[in-house]
Amino acid sequence: MVVSTSSGRPHFVLFPLMAQGHMIPMIDLARLIVQRGVIVTIFTSPQNAARFEKLLARAKQSGLQIHLLLLDFRVLEASGSPPGCENLDQLPSFHLAYFFLIWLARLQPQTEEIIQKLTPPPSCMIADLHLPWTAEVARKFDIPWIGLHTGSSFCQLNCEKTKEKPTDDFFKLVEETKRGAYGMVVNSFDGLEQAYVEEYKQIIGRKTWCVGPVSLCNTDDDDEAERGWQMGSASGVHQCLKWLDSQIPESVLYVCLGSLSNLPVSRMAELGLALEASKKPFLWLLRAGKHLEEVNKWISEEGYEERMEGRGVVVRGWAPQLLILSHPSVGGFLTHCGWNSVLEGISVGVPMVTLPLFADQFCNEKLVVDELKIGVKSGKGETDDIRKESVTEAIRELMDEGGERRKRARELCEMANKAMGDGGSSQRNLTLLIEEIEKRKSTNLIR
Ligand code: UDP
Repeated sequence: MVVSTSSGRPHFVLFPLMAQGHMIPMIDLARLIVQRGVIVTIFTSPQNAARFEKLLARAKQSGLQIHLLLLDFRVLEASGSPPGCENLDQLPSFHLAYFFLIWLARLQPQTEEIIQKLTPPPSCMIADLHLPWTAEVARKFDIPWIGLHTGSSFCQLNCEKTKEKPTDDFFKLVEETKRGAYGMVVNSFDGLEQAYVEEYKQIIGRKTWCVGPVSLCNTDDDDEAERGWQMGSASGVHQCLKWLDSQIPESVLYVCLGSLSNLPVSRMAELGLALEASKKPFLWLLRAGKHLEEVNKWISEEGYEERMEGRGVVVRGWAPQLLILSHPSVGGFLTHCGWNSVLEGISVGVPMVTLPLFADQFCNEKLVVDELKIGVKSGKGETDDIRKESVTEAIRELMDEGGERRKRARELCEMANKAMGDGGSSQRNLTLLIEEIEKRKSTNLIR
């Protein structure tokens, strides 16, 4: 543990990308760091802050020095960003995501103004890799810039090895920034994908600290329930938790395709029919995306919920995934293989049915199924097609014959919890990171 006097405390500035899969692990990381006596300041926007205000208020009440700084996102509108949009999940079309990343650079002048006035001055900045302009801010103020990897090293390495160098200016800048970073914080743990972390470290030639799974910082039900919570958007969560209480241990399949997926009704219907055909109890989370209305229409015209009564529950909006996954009745996780979801499944020892949809999710599927051997593919890989028959088969295979996979998932869960426990490797790595920044700070003071 790093113990410092209040005046000599290091001050970490954290800059998450405004997307649930990126903000959630950064907020977890913030809570892990602040518990070490470090001052933490998080840059975000009003609407994003509202998603984790309650969580941070509790940390603050217990005397921890964690602060939020709110940026004015209206400056993005001059570039064409939709009015009021502060998060990737608020974009009218996912095709705008790339442009949103570019528009975010407009926040640089106000960020610099704020940083200039911060007291004590920041000792380091940890930012999402998709915010390369923050590295320029850090450089201006002579603050070490550390990138946060919210994906797996397995996939990062895969990208490095395919040698498909980015051709557009934005991703070229992301690459350059990574290579010029002071170091990388990785949401993973020693023993999970260690060979890949090591090789990745060699290739990029940067210091790397594996400090995860960061979701394990949520040790009580309130924290788990409010993690990433969008106020008022979830319906039926309490009933669904009650329903889980009434189910047989390890019998329920939890189904969630992350915070950004927007599947059309034809594919959601295939998934719904597969859940029905599997004859297994399930809890299916429907995200409030642009197709929800049509999906709801299909559900209602089919009489789906009536047909599934007693066996399957549909939840709409935002659900407390950690709380659900750690419920003793949950015995399987049908996931789109977002890295946070994969790590969260591992952290509670639940094997998975994989249904990747885009980006690094196909690569994570390979890690889960072929390397870690804790999952069953529901499709052919490399395609986001959903076929009722193959999904049904994968669910049955996982829930009926999951012995070896379940055992392996439990072993990984034990390793993850050990890494995050007292004296565990992730705890040690976090100490090393903080100590390194403290050392740098005191050397600078002497100079
Ligand atoms: N999540 C949640 N409730 C939901 C949907 C998602 O808590 O209703 C959380 C989930 O636990 C994970 C994050 O949102 O921490 C999603 O990140 P992931 O990398 O799995 O996928 P993405 O949403 O980025 O595709």
